[in-house]
Amino acid sequence: MTLIEEIRELQKKRNAVILAHNYQPGEVQDLADFTGDSLELARKATDIHSDVIVFCGVHFMAETAAILNPDKTVLLPAADAGCPMADMITGEQLRALKAQHPGAKVLCYVNSTAEIKAESDCCVTSANAIAVAQSFPLAQEIIFVPDRHLGAYTAEKLGRSFVLWPGFCPTHARLTEQQVRAARAAHPGAPVLVHPECPKPVRDAADAVLSTGGMCRYVLGRPEPAFIIGTETGILHRLAQENPAKTFFPLLEQAVCPNMKKITPEKVLWSLRDMQTAIAVPPDIARRARRSIEAMLAIV
Ligand code: SF4
Repeated sequence: MTLIEEIRELQKKRNAVILAHNYQPGEVQDLADFTGDSLELARKATDIHSDVIVFCGVHFMAETAAILNPDKTVLLPAADAGCPMADMITGEQLRALKAQHPGAKVLCYVNSTAEIKAESDCCVTSANAIAVAQSFPLAQEIIFVPDRHLGAYTAEKLGRSFVLWPGFCPTHARLTEQQVRAARAAHPGAPVLVHPECPKPVRDAADAVLSTGGMCRYVLGRPEPAFIIGTETGILHRLAQENPAKTFFPLLEQAVCPNMKKITPEKVLWSLRDMQTAIAVPPDIARRARRSIEAMLAIV
């Protein structure tokens, strides 16, 4: 049997679905039942009928799936796949920040731990942050954690000012305005699409600032034959598959998240065989975190 046949057989035996984030290695995306960005995956996770969810992503994503599916087993095939940005704020730090801003509402990027979600009023993703923030009255003070770039971008788009936590994604922090200029010179006419986790000079130099799901939709509706993509390079796999006649250039080939690349097809197989590593969230934290995720899903 091939590796894929073995995975399919185990999937049947375990009644398992495989979800993968857009930043996963191409061969993992190819074996998944569903691939998407954080919002697409969060929505998908509310509509799962299998007993087991194999989540090919990083720890906070598997936690989110576990929070939304308390009666299912959620497996993360690489137990050490974390997110440095999610780890840039602790529950204690957020509680201290809230104490400094009594009355403020907390918006947290889904790229955060379950404890941070539990301490927040509403989650956001890069696809819906503007719409979610817009649902709060202008006079409402907002604390935005942990990504200062997505927070600043959202506030800027709404003409508001947020209390920002200084977290950031180390992978997107490697992208620069100079790279945008060089890419434009190398590929004249190709629109530059960047992720809102990028620093402001990169966002300002781009043609569009979009989540990875947003990039996929944007490209489908455009006549240009080539695009420059400023985010983690895993998304180029999905873009190329969905648009075989178009060409995609990474803004930076080294924009690779080492944690997202820890999962391999072999690890998916071992995960299903050994039912490892099951991700569990303490019930009280899960209950409060679920409220924040559901508040987001109710708005958008
Ligand atoms: S790409 Fe950035 S935000 Fe996403 S998992 Fe990796 S470090 Fe975290």
